[in-house]
Amino acid sequence: MPQRHLQLAAADAARLARPSGTGLDGGAVRQRMVARLRAEGRFDERVLAAMASVPRHEFVDTALAAQAYEDTALPIGHGQTISKPSVVAHMLGLLMAGTGAAQRGGLGRVLEIGTGCGYQAAVLAMLARQVTSIERLQGLYEKAQINLHRVALPRAPRLLWADGRLGHAASGPFDSIIAAAGGDDIPPAWLEQLAPGGRLIAPTAAAGRGQVLVVLDHLSDAGGQRWVRSEHEAVLFVPLKSGVV
Ligand code: SAH
Repeated sequence: MPQRHLQLAAADAARLARPSGTGLDGGAVRQRMVARLRAEGRFDERVLAAMASVPRHEFVDTALAAQAYEDTALPIGHGQTISKPSVVAHMLGLLMAGTGAAQRGGLGRVLEIGTGCGYQAAVLAMLARQVTSIERLQGLYEKAQINLHRVALPRAPRLLWADGRLGHAASGPFDSIIAAAGGDDIPPAWLEQLAPGGRLIAPTAAAGRGQVLVVLDHLSDAGGQRWVRSEHEAVLFVPLKSGVV
């Protein structure tokens, strides 16, 4: 039965294409990661559902695939790292809790600064109407394009190779802005491109505290337009740099 040989050959090829014994492609390991996060009781269920559907192992090198579902940051090349799953869940939860996102039940139009390997952009795509993600390193911009092509998403994030400190006015205004790299301050372009009712979250240097997560809400009501800033816990993100490489 020649057909049978073909079937066996195809099954072998599928097994060899993925690290054996990890069961990563079945998704069971990913579901366990999400179950562990859920057990902590501090994450938004919609964010966990999005993370349950994005194969994180597709975004890291094959040699690291077995660690893809541990709660750990991993190198993605070019001296950069993919954030820990719990940090991604926490930051996206803070975005979902903004007044605009709470009212519409989603993140709306999103700007991400620091595409890296594209993992967080993929999770954002599950929660948003549109995702624009900017990366300053050409090597990672290209890697993210390849990674994102491999995963099924409701709509593909728009990737740009540019200096994210300038935002992207042509795709804005944004309901949600999220930075994956930390600067000394929040670039003015981000505030200008944040829509009324929108929320921004960015690791930022704070006097005497090192780097902390800063949440900024653009409020617009009878009192006029205001930007309200709150500081959250200390964090350690790679630096927000200017220019492209
Ligand atoms: N969200 C990413 C995490 C990437 S780490 C992921 O899921 O993999 C942060 C990224 O920010 C790095 O790739 C770094 O090159 C990028 N970065 C730093 N400064 C930047 C800038 N001004 N504009 C765009 N990207 C920047």
